[in-house]
Amino acid sequence: MSKVSGRHSKHESAYLPIHQHKAQLIEAVKESDFLVVTGETGSGKTTQLPQFLYHAGFGQNGKIGITVPRRLAAITVAQRVADEMRCVLGKQVGYQVRFDDYTSQDTVVKYMTDGCLLREILADPHLSHYNVIILDEVHERSLNSDILLGLLKKNFSDRGQSSTGRSVPLKVVIMSATMETDKLSAFLGDCRVLTIPGRTFPVTCTFGSAVGPKDTQSTAYVKEVVKLAFDVHTSETAGDILVFLTGQIEIEQACDQLFKKAESIDYRYDVQDQTVEGLLILPLYGSMASDQQKAIFQPPPDGIRKCVMATNIAATSLTINGIKYIIDSGFVKQLRHNSNVGMDILEVVPISKSEAHQRAGRAGRTSAGKCFRVYSKGFWEQSMPEYMLPEIQRTSLTAVVLTLKCLGVHDVIRFPYLDPPEERFILDALKQLYQFDAIDRRGRVTQLGELMVEFPLQPGLTRALLKAAELGCQDMLLPVAAMLSVENIFIRPGGTDKQKEADEKHRALNSSLNDFATLLGVFQSCKSSERPSAWCKDNWIHWRALKSAFSVETQLRDILHRLQQKNHFPVETFVGSRTDMFRQCLCSGYFTNVARRSVGKTFCTMDGRGSMVHIHPSSALFEKEAKVNWVIFHDVLVTSRVYMRTVCPIRYEWVKDLLPKLHEVDVYDLSNVAREEVTNEEITKWEKREAAKRQAEISAENVMKKLE
Ligand code: ADP
Ligand code: MG
Repeated sequence: MSKVSGRHSKHESAYLPIHQHKAQLIEAVKESDFLVVTGETGSGKTTQLPQFLYHAGFGQNGKIGITVPRRLAAITVAQRVADEMRCVLGKQVGYQVRFDDYTSQDTVVKYMTDGCLLREILADPHLSHYNVIILDEVHERSLNSDILLGLLKKNFSDRGQSSTGRSVPLKVVIMSATMETDKLSAFLGDCRVLTIPGRTFPVTCTFGSAVGPKDTQSTAYVKEVVKLAFDVHTSETAGDILVFLTGQIEIEQACDQLFKKAESIDYRYDVQDQTVEGLLILPLYGSMASDQQKAIFQPPPDGIRKCVMATNIAATSLTINGIKYIIDSGFVKQLRHNSNVGMDILEVVPISKSEAHQRAGRAGRTSAGKCFRVYSKGFWEQSMPEYMLPEIQRTSLTAVVLTLKCLGVHDVIRFPYLDPPEERFILDALKQLYQFDAIDRRGRVTQLGELMVEFPLQPGLTRALLKAAELGCQDMLLPVAAMLSVENIFIRPGGTDKQKEADEKHRALNSSLNDFATLLGVFQSCKSSERPSAWCKDNWIHWRALKSAFSVETQLRDILHRLQQKNHFPVETFVGSRTDMFRQCLCSGYFTNVARRSVGKTFCTMDGRGSMVHIHPSSALFEKEAKVNWVIFHDVLVTSRVYMRTVCPIRYEWVKDLLPKLHEVDVYDLSNVAREEVTNEEITKWEKREAAKRQAEISAENVMKKLE
């Protein structure tokens, strides 16, 4: 993949502000166990500090690991640093992100996502392969990075550095763009803080009025950023443009629209700065192909203005040189727990004021710049919070709590959190783990839980996969799990004719009334075809996504195989058809997402919330008049309605025994479990209460039977 480019001379990066502090930084890392480093974005923290440490001799007794929240950032930065160090990516410098490992025996400087390091800690709690750990982008407050902070602190205070499993002390560096350093330092035992002063130039900001806080549907803000980008291009002096949007779809729409507008420009008359002779429009989002990324960082040809349309990744993770104009949509896509449906959902929300400052600042790195906000002053004052809520306070903690429990952190409520999540979120996580049989009534990790934590998948999907392994039909579930782990595989072309053709092809692939089976079918047909890439083209399927699905499937298969060698796996036999077996495996993981037809096309969820949900138009079940009364679904999309996506019809009897588990545990009960070991007395009380509940359920079930 990588070539030694030699394009970046030492000279170029030597201009970065961080170089004046090189000696001081190395000294500080040598002297302290914990160090906080802050500095303006673009000052060289992420790309340079690991290199300083490497050349100072760190890395001889273990690796230098750098964690970032976003996968694209890990990949891009590793590539850049490999180029700067003139080595092949994957040798001395490498990266690891979920399902993609570009490291080798020789790797000393390792960039990775924070999720990857968390998984590594499971296998090696003392991080004995590391000499230095750098937690980067801590100001982003990603869930995994917050947990890592707590774990590193706890590890240190529990055992001290002379603990077993380590021959040299572990050095920990926390890096952040702007975060309250006092708070971080206090959290880490008043550790030392080093600040890298950056150079910044003034940025003038103007507010718009076209978009309000309720305009979270992309049409309004996409149209407005396109208009502003066009105006900047035609009326401002030379300098590149960076547009902040919310996600891939919005970015592609905006690129298309701006491209169409830009095509009509007559540069002799329309553009005020006559040195500007063209516009180069480039997208930048997380699931982009890596060969597309290079162009983003390259200076445009003479006379050409570059316009990058990016997600929040360009706010702090990646720095593009030459940006003079910012266009800020005011929104960001964020994962939030939705209590109506009991799931984490990507939502478009207003950014915080601090985020808006950060976005604007990207225009003032090398000269004075301008920032155009599409939103009004009123939006700023009334709808934008000062700071974003950290992820730990707004998303599901199920996976993280299981990880902590597997690491021996029994008391997950009193874990050292930088900002503790609400107790009810922790209790919800415990409840869900109990429902999945990943922990027992005393809050201890079960055998199943130990297996589940090994898979980088959501717990429900993992459970379905493990059930399939028991029944010997993993060949059906592994591809499904892989397909659900990659980006959307179905191409949705612009233009109505093409759209029609794509729709028809996709419909032909939806042979059965089961979206999970469609995923399996696509996977198998493509894999067994003679020319898989041509097959994809023919069927309007993203070949790149399928290729990753093939690789993910192999990796999941390897994990399963490794576990099967190490553990005793129960074996069950199944009487019935293959499709029934497939669907029953799905039920054992998705019984938390069961819905029953209520009236007309409306379904009602069975998890106790009783939310009204609909089948999404993309589902094979959408138009069919089939009498589907019970379904399970993979996830939901919330617009004006709640839509179930990736749906499969089931029979009530398959979930009948699983559903009561959803109502079995009171949050109250688990709050005791979370705090301390439960006494036998309490267990007895609990069991009595449950017996009473069961009785009630049996009568409810009888009523149901009569109704069916
Ligand atoms: P910080 O972490 O302090 O925000 P970085 O180390 O990410 O700073 O960036 C330092 C400099 O390196 C910036 O000027 C940025 O433009 C440049 N840079 C980083 N990655 C690349 C890349 N892939 N291509 C070109 N330049 C890059
Ligand atoms: Mg950085």
